[in-house]
Amino acid sequence: MNSEFLPSACPHDCPSTCALEVERLNAQTIGRVRGAAENDYTAGVICAKVSSYRERVHHPDRLMQPLKRTGAKGSGEFAAISWDEALDEVADHFKQAADKYGPETVWPYYFAGTMGLIQRDGINRLRHAMGYSNQDMTICTSLAWTGWEAGAGSMWGTDPRELAESDLIVVWGGNPVSTQVNVMTHITRARKQRGAKLVVIDPYRTPTAEKADIHLALRPGTDGALAAAVMHVLFAEGYADHDYMAKYTDVPERLHQHLSTRTPAWAAEITGLSVEEIIEFAHLYGQTERSYIRVGYGFSRSRNGAANVHAVSCLPAVTGAWKHRGGGAMHTNSGMYNIDMTAIMGLDVRDSSIRALDMCRIGRILTREEESLLGGPPVTAMLMQNINPAEVCPESKLVLEGLSRDDVFVCVHEQFMTGTAKYADIVLPATMSMEHADMYRGGGHMYLQVVRPVIEAPGECRSNHDVIQGLAQRLGAQHPGFEMTTWELIDETLRASGMPGADEAAEMRWIDCSKSSEDMRYLNGFSHPDGKFRFAPDWAALGADSENMPTLPDHMASTDETSEQHPFRLVTAPARRFLNSSFTEMPSSIKKEGRPMALIHPDACEQLGLTEHDRVRLGNDLGSVVVHVKPFDGLQKDVVIVEGVWPNAAFEEGVGINALTSADRGPPNGGGVFHDTSVWLEAA
Ligand code: SF4
Repeated sequence: MNSEFLPSACPHDCPSTCALEVERLNAQTIGRVRGAAENDYTAGVICAKVSSYRERVHHPDRLMQPLKRTGAKGSGEFAAISWDEALDEVADHFKQAADKYGPETVWPYYFAGTMGLIQRDGINRLRHAMGYSNQDMTICTSLAWTGWEAGAGSMWGTDPRELAESDLIVVWGGNPVSTQVNVMTHITRARKQRGAKLVVIDPYRTPTAEKADIHLALRPGTDGALAAAVMHVLFAEGYADHDYMAKYTDVPERLHQHLSTRTPAWAAEITGLSVEEIIEFAHLYGQTERSYIRVGYGFSRSRNGAANVHAVSCLPAVTGAWKHRGGGAMHTNSGMYNIDMTAIMGLDVRDSSIRALDMCRIGRILTREEESLLGGPPVTAMLMQNINPAEVCPESKLVLEGLSRDDVFVCVHEQFMTGTAKYADIVLPATMSMEHADMYRGGGHMYLQVVRPVIEAPGECRSNHDVIQGLAQRLGAQHPGFEMTTWELIDETLRASGMPGADEAAEMRWIDCSKSSEDMRYLNGFSHPDGKFRFAPDWAALGADSENMPTLPDHMASTDETSEQHPFRLVTAPARRFLNSSFTEMPSSIKKEGRPMALIHPDACEQLGLTEHDRVRLGNDLGSVVVHVKPFDGLQKDVVIVEGVWPNAAFEEGVGINALTSADRGPPNGGGVFHDTSVWLEAA
């Protein structure tokens, strides 16, 4: 057999955006998938789920032809139709809906099922050209990015390759062993070569925490308290760098004064950690010049998430760790790429006066809650690409209720018959990344990659780009981007961004977009007009709901706290073999993950009369779900963890863990609060 390895990139919602090499067995078939060894971030390492990608590409359940619903919504009964019939029907429904309620009744809806800029973001070109409702992108990054930007002013941090030059790495609110394996490659290098210490701060003993020198298993949503107490010790014990702060920060004296009451004893009460644990970590952090905080997303998914991320980002500004190679912090490098998205997204025809509906509130929106509709018409027609809201969005019972309505027309363009696709009126079969071209930028590193398809699209699958073009033509949408092929759009975008064209970029395989080490560490100033890091952020400039944000880094007591009725705090953490709801169809992933399980402290199990493998019901005012019990001592007694966005169908009552999570907006600018839920537990 004449196989060859061709370049590709991982399209999934993971900051690593690994550079891949995919074995092409013939024009229709892939074989092995491996990480590119020459890429110094991927470094030849990829996660197990993507190394098994052949299972996913050639899965027998892949959607292969357009389908039209024949049974009740959610029944899964469909009949095959042609592409022309399907696209005509979608366009007709959009036109009729817009005639009745105006264009804002149509809500194109998407997220990060692929991170490719063409196939992910092109849906916005149709939105803007037609005047359809905008989407407030709250489901993932909103709280974290707002919290980081509040202090640093822009979205980048110390080059992740410098992790290998660090003496202390703090993984705060992340679990890279399960979710971003490449971070561990660079951490392992530092540990082997320099004896670097690893500290993990996470409510439960994740696989990453198992590898750590110190694991701080704090209560969910108390990271701001821990950060404030650590800074208290840094000031009190002479670890604060006053010269650095005078040059690079806004109000160091006010911060010092404010922290005087934020003692380790104060934080111990809030976090559930011991005073000794807090002081030990503060000493280690204060004593280590090259300390690198890898700021994760986990602890941002809380009503106080933005405040927590900001508080954590203050630590290296107190010690001046930013001065040293391998020191400082990084959350994402997404702000480092200056890509001109005009042609892809139709930014030049965007009308910013059109409402932006909160994507986390899709349940409330489809069921016509006035407040969530922002004073506009109901949403009666949707096109969905790269997202599965019936399973990944909060308040999923309400989402299913909305999707079941006869007055809501939904077209889902998907790779598999997801929990959302089952409710669609029209289902369109989508290509996978190895079957279309695209361009990718890595949030967790600094490389831009342009890749061609590796194999042909199977069956009748079409790319997102092709569907957008087909609908634009039928709807009469006007924009130069609708006249371009995928490759032409990539070429146009790269050139408009001052980069080499598509052919040259693909030939280069990856383009290093990083700034100098000094710039990544803000040694030429932070990204505010005065060049100073903000201990006292201007929250009002970052979001309309800023009233209760803490003036200086602090514990913001706004979480869904435990009560007599709801004595446990639930965290819905990612599973190692799934990525959001992707990979939940892959046999090897399902085998490894087993079934939905609740990790519960053995003492709590005893109190509730639960033993391993028992069924337990978790509930709150939004609903309840039944899962199996796994006694686990790596968390506090009032914390419960359920990993993975399992499909609704994996749960006894047909609705998954997001039945319990709230669509409340985390201040100041909105954001999903997936790990901020109090619940009751009882034997089922
Ligand atoms: S680590 Fe992340 S980017 Fe790399 S292959 Fe796995 S999912 Fe894709």
